[in-house]
Amino acid sequence: MSHSLARDAGARAFAAVALVPAIPGKDLLTYQVPETERARVQPGVRVLVPIGRRHETGIVVELSDTPPPGVTTIRAIADVLDDEAILTPDLFALSRWTADYYVTTLADVLAAALPGGLRASTARVARLALPSAEAPPLRGLEAALVSRLATAGPASVRALARTLADRRVDAAVRALAARGVIVVEEQLRAPAAKARLETVLELARPLGDDERRVLEHRAPRQHALYERIAAAPGCRVDASALNRSARSAATGLLRRGTLVSVRRERYRDGATSAPVAPLAPPTLTSAQRLAVDAIAEQTSFQVVLLHGVTGSGKTEVYLQAATRAHARGRSVLFLVPEIALTHQLVTRVRQRFGSGVAVLHSDLGPGERWDEWRRVARGEARIVVGARSAVFAPIANLGLVVVDEEHDAAYKQDEGLRYNARDLAIVRAKLAGVTAILGSATPSVESYQQALDGKYRLLTLPQRVEGRPLPTVEVLDLRTLAPVTPTAPPGPPTRRQRSAAVVHPAVPGQRDDARPSMLLSAPLLAAIGETLARREQVLLFLNRRGFARALQCLGCGEPAGCPSCSVSLTLHERRQVLLCHHCGFARAARSPCSACGRDALRAAVEGTERIEQEVGAYFPSARVGRLDRDTTSSRGAQRRILEAWETGALDILIGTQMVAKGHDVHAVTLVGVLLADVALNLPDFRAAERAFQLLTQVAGRAGRGALAGRVLIQTYRPEHHSLLAATTHDYAAFAPRELALRKELGYPPFSRLVVLRFEGVDAERTERAALELARHARALDGSVAIRGPAPAPLERIRNRYRWQLLLTSRSVQALHRSVRHLLTTWRTTRGARATRLVVDVDPVSML
Ligand SMILES: [Zn+2]
Ligand SMILES: [Zn+2]
Repeated sequence: MSHSLARDAGARAFAAVALVPAIPGKDLLTYQVPETERARVQPGVRVLVPIGRRHETGIVVELSDTPPPGVTTIRAIADVLDDEAILTPDLFALSRWTADYYVTTLADVLAAALPGGLRASTARVARLALPSAEAPPLRGLEAALVSRLATAGPASVRALARTLADRRVDAAVRALAARGVIVVEEQLRAPAAKARLETVLELARPLGDDERRVLEHRAPRQHALYERIAAAPGCRVDASALNRSARSAATGLLRRGTLVSVRRERYRDGATSAPVAPLAPPTLTSAQRLAVDAIAEQTSFQVVLLHGVTGSGKTEVYLQAATRAHARGRSVLFLVPEIALTHQLVTRVRQRFGSGVAVLHSDLGPGERWDEWRRVARGEARIVVGARSAVFAPIANLGLVVVDEEHDAAYKQDEGLRYNARDLAIVRAKLAGVTAILGSATPSVESYQQALDGKYRLLTLPQRVEGRPLPTVEVLDLRTLAPVTPTAPPGPPTRRQRSAAVVHPAVPGQRDDARPSMLLSAPLLAAIGETLARREQVLLFLNRRGFARALQCLGCGEPAGCPSCSVSLTLHERRQVLLCHHCGFARAARSPCSACGRDALRAAVEGTERIEQEVGAYFPSARVGRLDRDTTSSRGAQRRILEAWETGALDILIGTQMVAKGHDVHAVTLVGVLLADVALNLPDFRAAERAFQLLTQVAGRAGRGALAGRVLIQTYRPEHHSLLAATTHDYAAFAPRELALRKELGYPPFSRLVVLRFEGVDAERTERAALELARHARALDGSVAIRGPAPAPLERIRNRYRWQLLLTSRSVQALHRSVRHLLTTWRTTRGARATRLVVDVDPVSML
């Protein structure tokens, strides 16, 4: 033992450090470890290191006794910020895997993995050296700088540059400092997230009876404080709770050695500290019991795909599996797609596990988040519930991983490090040798194919709990029920379309002057009226993102699609063409429907506000709420609307994807999907799958209680396989059909996919850069197929034009090799100077 310690001590001269945040394109940097700090510097601690003329925070990744070859000057670590490592060996292993798989640097991954606010840094702060009266005569920018410092006091150089809005501030500061007019010092800015310390007074030794009598006689106040502390739990009190006289008494007792003063860490009152009444677990159904037993019997790594219809009690399976892991002294990682939308689930976890639960979510302040992170690292909270980034929580002794709603696109990070938390959760389970449960009513076809291949174990919950029936689902054919929408993009409607418009018959509750609705068909209006008459609740679902540039024939329902990629074409205004953004195929914008020949291609879009107005006009006495990104931009708004909905204070809720997830509202008996086509027509090869998942999930909101549910889906494409499978709640019918289509076109899960996205402010340069790299790509490994380049469906975001190139291959190694090769080539091209290249491995959204 002592031998290895001695060897470790010798191998601590140099540290490889990952900066937080990472510097683009740079991985680990090497620093010297000062002799005096060798005992404290270990992998996983934060250090403050010099970089250029400032200091930044870094994480020590590894130590060595020799510097890397070819490095001549090595600067020293300036300070060590932690006494214990904040990153565990497990997390390093996961981070290394992540860096390799997502073709990026370890520094990049660590920066994404750590909670925010952990960064200390320095700023250059300028102050006047002389009283301003003695300053030499100055002009222009220099005069402005000095007068600013004289009136407003010392300021950071960066702040001065901002206030004076002049790029020459840096040079002027240096000139003034050289002449002794001002002084520039480097000042440390502490990280936003740090431990909160409190001072506690503890009894150092109990007094004997004689001593107490003497104390009572000679110093009654000290005696009173002594008795108070001796009677307190743990024989200690918080120093900040003492009044002035007790504080002076404490000084006396400290001097006598009767008390000691201890500084210790105190957690903030985060979400986890609010008490939740414990709740006993319900009795399991036989299917649930089989699943829990099957999960518990395996003692090494396995992935269980838990496919349970909506309302079948998947959560109870997770909780009981977690209880068993917890009872063995192990920790549980419990991932949910979005914490804010799953508060019912979080409450249930806390009812079962009490204060041993840490909840990691984006609403926590840096301090609260840090406290939760520390509670997890120290094993004080062994049930960790969180969204995406919780996959990097510093859990020790992991015993089980749960990924709820595994198909949800929210698990994919869509900027910075584009990781999929569902996939990383499986890697974590594999590294720890434990079970990962992926649960869903509508598993992703990728996961389902793994189960078919025998790599995942498939467990099913085919029925709802308490024998509740699944809701009945009916499809309403808008081709015969709705007028052609006047929102048509290319060209005015033809006379035939105008005459095809259907005028709605009168419906109960309809006002006399109401115009025919575009998106509320007569059968749907009638059903809403009946439901409201029974005093039950109605949920009307719209898509979050109407994609106005995907066109569809309103005569026959067929979307304008690419013949070779099976995705919707998008209208490209500048070129007046309909374009496939996968392969670049184009046809004239004003062309007839390729299925029926009619000139009826239109954009199928919807607007939430418009619907809210129409519903209000038809049902003036109904209490109507709307839940979408617009109405919930403030923090508490979403909670308020959902509470009103759950308590029955709303009759009708109009909502987007947000309402589809996890809310058990028992009085909801009617769900209306206003236009299923919006989901079906997204220009993404996963559109059909997403539509099926969404429709199943939305339909699952109906009839969760004792009352039977009914679902009405409006569409122009009633024969689509996603809709047909959703009406019968039949995943087993949907998946084979969808998998066959994917196989035919070579899409995942039958290939691996990487998208290279080019983003630039200049349209032509961005296009040229994409074309140039595509030429290099086509000259590569024949086992990698190339599609594109083509403009992305969201052609321009935040003033940047976007092009994309798709790379697919059956071999993940060949694919990653090609991507690495292309990245090296890219750096030598002219395009790299003005265009940003984003690598998206296993992309989830193709928009
Ligand atoms: Zn195509
Ligand atoms: Zn048609």
